[in-house]
Amino acid sequence: MKRTIKSITIALCMAAVCLLPAAASPGLAFTYDPTAPAQEQPDAVDPSGTPAAGPSDPSVAEDPSEPATTEPTAPVTTKPTQTTTKKPTQPTTKKPTTTKATTTTAAPRKDPTPVLSSVKAGYRSILLGWFPVKNAVGYEIYLKQENKEKTIIKVGIENTSTLTKLNCGKKYTVKVRSVKKKDGKKIRSEWSESKTVTVSHTDWEMLKKKYQNKGDVNELIFVRYKGGTKADLLLYEKNAKGKWKLVLSCPAYVGKKGIDKKKEGDGKTPKGQFPITCAFGIKADPGSKMQYTKINKHHYWCADKRYNQMVDLREKPHSCSGEHLIDHTKQYAYAMNIGYNNSGEKGKGFAIFLHCFGYYKYTLGCVAVSKTNMIKILQTCGDGTMICIYRK
Ligand SMILES: [Zn+2]
Repeated sequence: MKRTIKSITIALCMAAVCLLPAAASPGLAFTYDPTAPAQEQPDAVDPSGTPAAGPSDPSVAEDPSEPATTEPTAPVTTKPTQTTTKKPTQPTTKKPTTTKATTTTAAPRKDPTPVLSSVKAGYRSILLGWFPVKNAVGYEIYLKQENKEKTIIKVGIENTSTLTKLNCGKKYTVKVRSVKKKDGKKIRSEWSESKTVTVSHTDWEMLKKKYQNKGDVNELIFVRYKGGTKADLLLYEKNAKGKWKLVLSCPAYVGKKGIDKKKEGDGKTPKGQFPITCAFGIKADPGSKMQYTKINKHHYWCADKRYNQMVDLREKPHSCSGEHLIDHTKQYAYAMNIGYNNSGEKGKGFAIFLHCFGYYKYTLGCVAVSKTNMIKILQTCGDGTMICIYRK
């Protein structure tokens, strides 16, 4: 079959857009208590490994299915289950609030309002943390899915809570208030400031755990597909203790038609978990951790006899219908092969790479990042690197 689309890709070079600040790490939202000490800011990078209470089957991550979200007329919303964990995240915050004597003249608060310290979306879950309120006998969490009824969840005196069994990809608003008892009566504080987060489709934490104990996997690339042709790319590296540490977070483009590739030419990027099988590029080796092939005019990514393999025509002379790699100056300045269709099944798709931005804001089935970020990825990723591509 004649294949005209010279695959790959092209995606606008927007180096400037890259390098999201770590704090903008996707899926997270924070809170900030103006009066809280700075060190109380949640760690955006690697959140203490609190397990999101998702299904325990790792294979679920293969294809996170969307739960039925609608209960058309039910006035009562899905009752999220809720688990509380005692965490010693005690902020010793009892600082005199000397700040801002200027603000509202409002009547003295009946009670101190709790302040959310972290709100983190996970797979079908939200992990909440707040600064404890003195003498509280419990807390109440307000949870509301967009366009649905609110739910009030009572929790104990812990100052964290994980709300689970939420709906994938849905937006939720949360806030918290404290409950005290006076003369046998419950006194509720006002609600804290609210936060809105979108619950993940994919159990990214589970994926991190899955590869945690795999000794040959020391780098993990997450491509968290956001819709359209956009994704966030996160690169994790195992630290000395074998824990995942986020070393890069940047925007990426995927296929013109999104993800979940089925066949050659469908304009989609594959979905799933794949090994990174090799590094190459038209430019000189930037200090690649993996063995790097510098591309010359003899290199093709074959689409015929050696479907989905790199070939050097000097070694395997044939009239190759595959991609002449050196022609894709921008995209293949630096690249790595994503091990999709490693077996080389014809028609399933070939030349699926992680490469540099081309000229457009999409690829034809690859994943593209800025050149600067591609260099960083090459320098970080050794043999055994896995790339996981799923909906955010
Ligand atoms: Zn060929």
